[in-house]
Amino acid sequence: MRVLSIGECMAELAPLAAPAQYRMGFAGDTFNAAWYLARLTPDASVSYFTAVGDDAISAQMLGMIRDNGIDTSHVQIVSKRSVGLYLITLDKGERSFTYWRGQSAARQLAQDARALSGAMDQADLIYFSGITLAILDAKGRETLVDAAKAARAAGKLVAFDPNLRPHLWDSPQEMTETIMQGAAVSSIALPSFEDEAQWFGDGSPEATLNRYAQAGADTIVVKNGAEAVRYRAGRDEGTVIVPQLASVVDTTAAGDSFNAGILAGLAKRVPLVESISLSCRLAGHVVQGNGALVPVDQSLVDGFA
Ligand code: ADP
Repeated sequence: MRVLSIGECMAELAPLAAPAQYRMGFAGDTFNAAWYLARLTPDASVSYFTAVGDDAISAQMLGMIRDNGIDTSHVQIVSKRSVGLYLITLDKGERSFTYWRGQSAARQLAQDARALSGAMDQADLIYFSGITLAILDAKGRETLVDAAKAARAAGKLVAFDPNLRPHLWDSPQEMTETIMQGAAVSSIALPSFEDEAQWFGDGSPEATLNRYAQAGADTIVVKNGAEAVRYRAGRDEGTVIVPQLASVVDTTAAGDSFNAGILAGLAKRVPLVESISLSCRLAGHVVQGNGALVPVDQSLVDGFA
């Protein structure tokens, strides 16, 4: 199975214990999912679709993506641009994020419609998110949604995490409308209940599930933090209890790693409840570590891969 993840990877500056000392890393929602997926399914081909600049940090990012077993042959290079950056600030253990991504090359990832559909042609499973849509201009959003629609019509799986981030959108209305356009062309929807309740007014995970089913998804998995995961796949419907954890260190990339488990299950064609169990184990491990990319212990994957 060939998987194509589409979106933006950014440089990350995370504070170290000493004052004014930072470690540079790379992360971004669709990239994090690709990173975990490459670990869960070393035999699947995972490709990342984005645009980077032509400077040293862009080259470093590309090298890091490749070093992690992710194909970069569809990454576009935009001259005189660079990658986005975010800085993590810690205040009494609470993390806050400051972004510099308005001019990032990734905002142009959907400018070349042929490059995008060409990359999709070479994939069996396509993954993108509400953040991928948010960073594009109106034309880019249309290009991405149209390409995903055509890919689905051609028999490919299209997975979508709405990943609602109001600060990336001009208005809540623009966000909710565009998200539902993304959902309408997707076969698999992976929403998080808390965000959906806040921005779509859903009264329960069931309401979220029904809304994405009505939009056209055949498979819907509703994440809900430590609460049970609600799912539907055709006529198969139910809940999976999330294992309780003694401590949660950092919830960054909980949803992204969870999604990687679902994508891995699709790649390996295992029943959805098994993928959800793997997703819960993986995300549970990720929230007990620091940062977006937490090394994965092989024992988590044993019996699945
Ligand atoms: P997102 O990061 O997209 O908001 P959630 O917060 O719903 O997503 O978390 C995604 C998954 O991460 C959950 O379905 C669960 O498996 C795991 N998870 C998140 N928070 C916890 C927690 N406090 N305890 C156990 N598992 C958690």
